Amino acid sequence: MDIYDYELITKALNTANEWSAYGNIKFILTTNKATSDIRVAFRAGNGYLSAVGTHATEAAYVNHTTMWLQNLDKQPKDEFKRVVLHEFGHSIGLLHEIQSPAAASIKWKVPEVNAHFKKLYGWEPDKVYTNVLQIVPTNAYTKFDPLSIMVYAIPKELTTNLTADIEWPTALSKIDKETIVTYYPF
Ligand SMILES: [Zn+2]
Repeated sequence: MDIYDYELITKALNTANEWSAYGNIKFILTTNKATSDIRVAFRAGNGYLSAVGTHATEAAYVNHTTMWLQNLDKQPKDEFKRVVLHEFGHSIGLLHEIQSPAAASIKWKVPEVNAHFKKLYGWEPDKVYTNVLQIVPTNAYTKFDPLSIMVYAIPKELTTNLTADIEWPTALSKIDKETIVTYYPF
């Protein structure tokens, strides 16, 4: 059996390359591990995860997988697209929008948040902290964008001050598109 599923790889690449329309980014296929920047596992791992930006060059990732999209092809079309754009967003350096300093005004009900993500993904509180609750200081962020591809869906009941649910995104937002070109100018 061919170890590469080119149909799946092409589908993921074409989806990821939507970023290319808005920033000077091009994801191209290579089977040369030594010169690759991003190495994707479609069968191994535990859910969806990616190294953020240049972290993928750190020792722990050398010749290793940098992105896990485990069994993503079993997901419906919209979820496939959301996850690919989100994880490739991480690969080009983007963090979770809800962890931006601009999201620091969200007042979380921490036990409820922990219970929610435990039920959804089986995450322990430390993982919820690093993926959701922890604000990551950065000098590159926009006004909080609840439509960003980099959000998780957040029911407003998990907070004391969101007035509307944050829904799962299905596409790059207007702000995603306008911002990525400032990091990757043509
Ligand atoms: Zn993420």
